[in-house]
Amino acid sequence: MLVRFWGVRGSTPTPQSENLRYGGNTSCVEVRMNGHIYVFDCGTGFRNLGKQLCQETNGHAVTAHIFLSHFHWDHIQGIPFFSPLYSDRGSRFYFHSSSRTRGLQRAIEAQMSDPYFPVNMNEMAAHRQFFDIEEGTVPFDHCSIQAKWLNHPQGCLGFRIESEGKVLVYATDNEPGDPVFDKAVRKLAEGADILIYDAQYLPEEYAATKHGWGHSHWREAVNVVMESGAKELILFHHDPDHTDECIDNIVVKAREYYPKVRAASEGMEILL
Ligand SMILES: [Zn+2]
Ligand SMILES: [Zn+2]
Repeated sequence: MLVRFWGVRGSTPTPQSENLRYGGNTSCVEVRMNGHIYVFDCGTGFRNLGKQLCQETNGHAVTAHIFLSHFHWDHIQGIPFFSPLYSDRGSRFYFHSSSRTRGLQRAIEAQMSDPYFPVNMNEMAAHRQFFDIEEGTVPFDHCSIQAKWLNHPQGCLGFRIESEGKVLVYATDNEPGDPVFDKAVRKLAEGADILIYDAQYLPEEYAATKHGWGHSHWREAVNVVMESGAKELILFHHDPDHTDECIDNIVVKAREYYPKVRAASEGMEILL
């Protein structure tokens, strides 16, 4: 299992010199298993993944399963700029998520409708299929992907990817404090090799003004990794106002509690 980070920022892209070491693109994580491509979220980092795939295949067909945690902009904004979707060379993209209020296809296509974007999704030549999922497990030939609701305004799904004895958990956009969700995310992360987790705020920022905004902080991320028995924590969904220096400091503090902590950065790869 190869994990690649294409976007690690939360809320909005931040192309500013003080945070480019960790990266300014929003959520997008690629997972490759046995040559198959799975993508978790389509923030602005998704655009660069598209360029990489075009280069790799020399413009030929690409197939990928794309899981969206939810539909906030920082998780879908890369879709209109993902060039393989416009390819007529037989590429196939399978979108998976839960849309509680409207059909999944509509939820994804709406951001490209008049007057928000000049190109309609119907003009994308690649084959697209939409799977409206709920909590539960999606079985594939080489892996299984379990979805679980997290605590976030308008809902958000966390995912547990299991393949050949390796476990990766992608759980972003989750606020602590609700006993049912707190328990659920620890269950989802149980024994994982890698836990990618929402660490948007500093604990003091969260306590002062961010209650109810749907996000976590690094101290809670450390709690989740320790209480779930997951092995390594990857801090993710960095706040737009957190500079590289701020994130460096977060990692130092987090390691005082748990040694196997890293902050996600654009371009980072993990081979499991
Ligand atoms: Zn987000
Ligand atoms: Zn969100």
